[in-house]
Amino acid sequence: MEISISRQKRRQSVTVMVGPVRVGGGAPIVVQSMTNTDTADVMATVKQVAELASAGSELVRITVNTDAAAAAVPHIREKLDAMSVSVPLIGDFHFNGHKLLTTHPACAEALAKLRINPGNVGRGSKHDQQFAMLIEVALKHGKPVRIGVNWGSLDQELLTRMMDENARASGPKDAKEILHEAMVASALNSAQRAEELGLGHDRIILSCKMSSVQDLIDVYRRLAPRCDYPLHLGLTEAGMGSKGIVASTAALAILLQQGIGDTIRISLTPEPEGDRSREVIVAQEILQTMGLRAFMPLVAACPGCGRTTSTVFQQLAQDIQGYIRTRMPEWKRAYAGVETMQVAVMGCVVNGPGESKHANVGISLPGTGEKPVAPVYVDGEKTITLKGDTIAAEFQQIVEDYIRSHYPPRAQA
Ligand code: SF4
Repeated sequence: MEISISRQKRRQSVTVMVGPVRVGGGAPIVVQSMTNTDTADVMATVKQVAELASAGSELVRITVNTDAAAAAVPHIREKLDAMSVSVPLIGDFHFNGHKLLTTHPACAEALAKLRINPGNVGRGSKHDQQFAMLIEVALKHGKPVRIGVNWGSLDQELLTRMMDENARASGPKDAKEILHEAMVASALNSAQRAEELGLGHDRIILSCKMSSVQDLIDVYRRLAPRCDYPLHLGLTEAGMGSKGIVASTAALAILLQQGIGDTIRISLTPEPEGDRSREVIVAQEILQTMGLRAFMPLVAACPGCGRTTSTVFQQLAQDIQGYIRTRMPEWKRAYAGVETMQVAVMGCVVNGPGESKHANVGISLPGTGEKPVAPVYVDGEKTITLKGDTIAAEFQQIVEDYIRSHYPPRAQA
């Protein structure tokens, strides 16, 4: 049997504008992140939003859970604007969003999008009324809405009703299937209700987050063919460190390959005092390694083996990666297309020259027992052989020179 690995065309045809950012309708897949500061702490939140934006987050979500947080939002926006950080802010509302948004209109105005969780809008008869209040605010301020269903807070009345109907059916389905269907129904029913209340079809983004990889894939495969709204993807509560990265990548890569997903967020639990921006970098790396977008030059590095007994090679690969990340904001402003560059840092002569030749700029370091020299390849041709203690600095300069001479300057505004 022939296995097709080509990517499927993106399915969601509607475009939603979140501030100046296009989402859906074939626009590039957007990277999102979320702060973990107390939103009422204006300075801490401004600092973290700026860091996330600088790392490449194109939309940043902030929690709006109290009066103090809602009152802080316009000040956060003002301070970001004063710093020329224009990244759109999304307000995350649960339980009391209807109250906060109606008593703090400046908060609604400062946000580029409202995220509403239909499972946390209110119980019983209050649900419809409070949902309507939220949509009314979105209409009044001209804001799009993400209807973000989360399996941890799925509308229990809807789930119970669907479970009961299933139990009465002649051939009842598996309970997990009903749970997945309830996730999809919660999103689609809420979107329909929002449109009945007047919200434009092009003002709605949907998400249905699960914490298990297989569940997430199944839910989005059910959801995508049943609507044309842009879809936000993310594995909720992905976890810490490599587990969170691997699980998110496993789930998102399969969906993205199938043409599902218009925005993504990687919900990593940071290490204590860890860098929140890591979730942005992982999201970018998923998209770039899949060939869906380019954010910065990629460094191909071999894993090293018994032929690299010193740490010189690991150190150089790390230095080059760090150097590129640090220099990228300036390069990106100055040179068009620099983000597509490929750099290779290889540990020895076995695969080093071959891999280096396939990169724009590559270096093959001396493995154990090899001559202490490092040939450098530029566009497939060996141009120079570096040696001594200054290999790292000289190689960085070669990368700088390559960028300057190969990527056209961007037109200055
Ligand atoms: S390129 Fe050399 S050092 Fe790197 S993994 Fe292959 S054999 Fe080992």
